[in-house]
Amino acid sequence: MKGQLYLYHVDKDPPDKDINLLAIVTNRIAPGWVSVPQLSPSEKLIKKREQWLWERKWPRKWPDFVKQYREELKQPLKETYIKHLLKRLNEGNNIAFACYCADEKHCHKQIIGEWVSDRGIAVVQGKDERRQRKELLYQRENNNIKQLTIETVAKDGEQ
Ligand SMILES: [Zn+2]
Repeated sequence: MKGQLYLYHVDKDPPDKDINLLAIVTNRIAPGWVSVPQLSPSEKLIKKREQWLWERKWPRKWPDFVKQYREELKQPLKETYIKHLLKRLNEGNNIAFACYCADEKHCHKQIIGEWVSDRGIAVVQGKDERRQRKELLYQRENNNIKQLTIETVAKDGEQ
């Protein structure tokens, strides 16, 4: 069975998959994450995005960003890395692919997601999992409250 690609946010999601990649331009260290600056947009493209932000052209310029990042993915080094990513997924490994972008919709991980999705890999948005994770935690907390309440009621009944 093929693995799935999980689009994660490094501060919001845990590195809980078989392979956990942090694809930002610098070699920043985050526990549990393997840094792959090779799959980040180039410094030049990141600067361009900053400029678009500054000029209030973002996210209007998102299609241009997508086009340019796709071009970058054709560069030999980046192509090697993205093909390796696909290979690992096809081998059955689940992979978390994360970065720091606050705007997760307009983020290069979505472009990587589309690229592997076009090649038959299921892509999961970390955002959706985050909601489930929160719900699980909430349910657990609520169960604890219920248990405490039952105990309290029983004790009250004894008196
Ligand atoms: Zn990003």
